[in-house]
Amino acid sequence: MANLLIVEDDTLLREALAEQLALGNHQVVVAEGGIGAQQILERQRFDAMVLDLGLPTIDGIALLKWTRQRYGAMPIMILTARDGIDDRVQGLNAGADDYLTKPFDMKELQARIEALLRRARLPAFGGTLQIPAGHGKMLRLDPQLPLAWMGDEMLEVTQREWSLLSLLVARAGQVVSREDVMAVWQNDTSPEPAGSPAAAGSNALEVYIHRLRRKLSASTIQIRNVRGLGYTLTPGE
Ligand code: CA
Repeated sequence: MANLLIVEDDTLLREALAEQLALGNHQVVVAEGGIGAQQILERQRFDAMVLDLGLPTIDGIALLKWTRQRYGAMPIMILTARDGIDDRVQGLNAGADDYLTKPFDMKELQARIEALLRRARLPAFGGTLQIPAGHGKMLRLDPQLPLAWMGDEMLEVTQREWSLLSLLVARAGQVVSREDVMAVWQNDTSPEPAGSPAAAGSNALEVYIHRLRRKLSASTIQIRNVRGLGYTLTPGE
């Protein structure tokens, strides 16, 4: 099962798309336009998006670029009009993964979405880093952007928290040393919130581990201190 967002202003088509994708056992959310879609994307995490390019208020290309910038590797399928060759090229250049020309066969749409979802799970395509978090939820981390989700909800993390958590998740069950963390933090450039210790400060790592534990407290993920060596993350059940 995947979480899918459909953005289409044509009511009949939107309903048909939602119905078809729900048949594939997916959780489907719909938006009629670009602004509504942005509001939904800011609150919820999706595994893929079906996006009509011809939209009122914010056009599909602008929404596509906005989404790409914020949500990295999420697969996006665009829908274009039959004579919209320029749209299609523009869409692919703006980061769409695949396209369908209207009118299209619903079964073909379904098959292409499944293919996009399968491909997105492969690490070579920047697949999301994920581990079980307990209570039937997964903790997911975007591979490129400082974004994280607990189940469907976005987890508020700073860039440094995200780097640390990504490292711990990628090496779940193994010890991550202070040196490993410092090597990753070196690449972080965004400023941290006021009151955060300098990365190289003697207690910085402890402070960030404490923050992560607090943010993960609703899950059954554990971050253990391995005395003198570093930290180990244990996935939830
Ligand atoms: Ca349209």
